[in-house]
Amino acid sequence: MSRYLKTAFQALAPYVPGEQPRDQKYIKLNTNESPFPPSAGVQDAVLEASRSLRLYSDPESTDLRNRAARFYGIDPDEILMTNGSDEALNFTFMAYGDDDHPFLFPDITYGFYQVLCRANQIPYQTVPLKKDYTVCADDYIGQKGTVVLANPNAPTGITLQTGEIQRILAADPERVVIVDEAYADFSDDNCLRLIGSCPNLLIVRTFSKSWSLAGARLGCAIGNKDLIADLNRVKNAINPYNVNRMTAAAGIAAMDDKAYHDRCCQEICGQRERTSEALKKLGFTVLPSGTNFLFAKSADICGRDLYSKLKQRGILVRHFAQEGISDFVRITIGTAEDMDRLLEAIECIEQEAKDA
Ligand code: PMP
Repeated sequence: MSRYLKTAFQALAPYVPGEQPRDQKYIKLNTNESPFPPSAGVQDAVLEASRSLRLYSDPESTDLRNRAARFYGIDPDEILMTNGSDEALNFTFMAYGDDDHPFLFPDITYGFYQVLCRANQIPYQTVPLKKDYTVCADDYIGQKGTVVLANPNAPTGITLQTGEIQRILAADPERVVIVDEAYADFSDDNCLRLIGSCPNLLIVRTFSKSWSLAGARLGCAIGNKDLIADLNRVKNAINPYNVNRMTAAAGIAAMDDKAYHDRCCQEICGQRERTSEALKKLGFTVLPSGTNFLFAKSADICGRDLYSKLKQRGILVRHFAQEGISDFVRITIGTAEDMDRLLEAIECIEQEAKDA
């Protein structure tokens, strides 16, 4: 670090993304990517778009935005397309956080929220989850602050019912409530239907998980048109051409194949339930998941050791050293074969621990 770096960044512990190893081929169950390729139409669309790379992309992402609006059943001025959902989150934090508008989010949630607050010098308060790792809506009611909830939450995977979010929204219409629905396509509920009636709701979505486009970096923010106008102001101050031509084309082609998307989600949810049952039979505690991952705890082996022993066997999962969840590992749902290999490896590791 140089002596020129400003203080906010000197003091900042950056978000640490999951490993993207290059040393060997792992079964990669650590960053919640899809095990399936994008829809067949995506590759051709990207190639076609690459022919126009000489030109800047459309700063309004008009075609992509119209397609996404149609997909979500909203107006095009109720959505902003972004460079991954992390960028949508950054825009919302920049737009709605300052000394008079501190942020409020669970103590166990997506680690990027804390980092974004620090980077943008936004004061924040974390709210403990309940003992069963669920979010309690009442903890956010009567508290000052812009609320951010990942729903389903990460890394727990647990979904808060939409009715509870509605209570938080209605309790204080003067503040914005940001609902990060990165994993909502794997859940049985989401907040989209509230968009018309809740002027303080902002939903953030990603194409990185259910749409198999993590490497394309595509996300969006959905909300009342005035909120979206706010975010456009921020975007145009930071990065007007935020979505590149190839990514926009990939997004449109992906949404044109909803049937493929739905089949992928269905397969992933099926594998999730099968894996969850198998882990429970092996004595694991597995939290109920509305996502493409499981948060699971062995009765015999601590989370750190399980992570290491799986890595030795060529399987990558994610471990969080944070207090309260360090006994768990987060396992992304892969193909049926990936899950078979994972379960075999866990069985061996558990047996070794018992024999020792
Ligand atoms: N929100 C949550 C809850 C996530 O887990 C992730 C993935 N790390 C993101 C947002 C960011 O996803 P992306 O930037 O790839 O859209």
